Amino acid sequence: MRKQTDSARKQRLALVPCPYQGHINPILQLGKILQSRGFSITILHTIYNSPNPQAHPDFSFFPIPEGLSKSDISSGDLAHIVTTINDNCKVSFQHLMEQQESQEDDIACIIWDEYMYFSDAVATNLNIPSIIFRTSSAATFLGRCALLQLHARGLIPFQDSILHEMVPELYPLRYKDLPLPICSEFESSVPLIVDSHKIRNASAIIWNTVDCIEQSCLMQIKKEHCPVPIFPIGPMHMIAPPNSVSLLKEGTSCIPWLDKQSLNSVIYVSLGTMVSIGEKEVAEMAWGLANSKQPFLWVIRPGSICGSDWIEKLPQGFKVGVRERGCIVKWAPQKEVLAHKAVGGFWSHCGWNSTLESICEGVPMICNPHFGDQSVNARYVSHEWRVGLELENLERGEIERAITKLILDDEGKDIRARAKDLKEKVKLCTGEGGSSQSHLNELVDLIMSF
Ligand code: UDP
Repeated sequence: MRKQTDSARKQRLALVPCPYQGHINPILQLGKILQSRGFSITILHTIYNSPNPQAHPDFSFFPIPEGLSKSDISSGDLAHIVTTINDNCKVSFQHLMEQQESQEDDIACIIWDEYMYFSDAVATNLNIPSIIFRTSSAATFLGRCALLQLHARGLIPFQDSILHEMVPELYPLRYKDLPLPICSEFESSVPLIVDSHKIRNASAIIWNTVDCIEQSCLMQIKKEHCPVPIFPIGPMHMIAPPNSVSLLKEGTSCIPWLDKQSLNSVIYVSLGTMVSIGEKEVAEMAWGLANSKQPFLWVIRPGSICGSDWIEKLPQGFKVGVRERGCIVKWAPQKEVLAHKAVGGFWSHCGWNSTLESICEGVPMICNPHFGDQSVNARYVSHEWRVGLELENLERGEIERAITKLILDDEGKDIRARAKDLKEKVKLCTGEGGSSQSHLNELVDLIMSF
């Protein structure tokens, strides 16, 4: 039974992040947003990839022992890791929530990342309302629904002959753009996709997206897949007060380097938090950058080049001859980089956060997706919003042509102009009276009504 409390004590929200940077960033930003609306925030997180409590002294943090072994973690098998977390966390989470309720304020609502679905059972047991938080694009959700249907019809893996065909009713996606997971066997990911799509007892869905770029996908989801209200209140980083939520140390040495470059000249390269590449691919990237003759800022995450700690496997001639035209860092303050006037393009893997951050700064993109939702986002960037170019192959000639086109050619100027327009549209949505703010007001009203 829940305690009877006065309304001031009912303002605490429990947020449950999925332990990956691309999920932690937006849920902590959501915490900041809701805190600015008067709620207190408790983060219940796994020990694995735990967020840094010192970066958020005004939130309460409680670790949930998720019981992942070293071999679970080093397997890199995301479906296995997330399923194990869900299997292991329920009891400890319930215990923590009960402690919270006896020691601190009542929890008004649990907001859980769609992959942390063990939270729903606990919310139901304790009679606490809950809300799902989705961190991928709405288009990705529809892409995953299509994959489940195609799987049920025995059509996965796809025949090569259909890969370039359009998926019916999912323009602009081709079969090859559907968000297949990193591991080649789709079969093993099906239960996780099904589990993450279930609404269970949740009262609503918060989505890190914005009406002006995904309205038709959101309408389709409301019509076909979702009996509860959806609140698209993103991009979270535009609405949240600024704060560093990075799991990796951000090197700021690249900012003085950017200050010395000319307007719109630099190509910023980052493949996000999870993509790894081989030695051959890294050589193509390096020579493509070198041959383009444009200055570049390249984030190479330690360990992201297979078989090397950092940049040992970059071609020797590149290291000697071209390095001075570029800046290579282990991790960058990405939002600050994208906002810098010297940055003329973003060569990206098209993770959803990176895509949103690029759109919000009006930076045109070179889309280089590797797996999962990245191919959906890349296709929307290049063919729906038309604020980027698609890089089909990691091949030096193609890379050089894409960079030249984006930074120097007339086609690149048109793309840049559209990127600036889209930035303005998103700014209207996130500003006073915009759609994201209105949905946020509705969300706060809903939570207050619990
Ligand atoms: N990021 C960053 N510095 C870097 C590279 C990435 O701060 O050098 C941040 C980026 O701003 C984004 C997140 O890491 O918020 C990556 O999330 P995304 O969804 O784009 O990619 P994923 O995590 O799926 O690889």
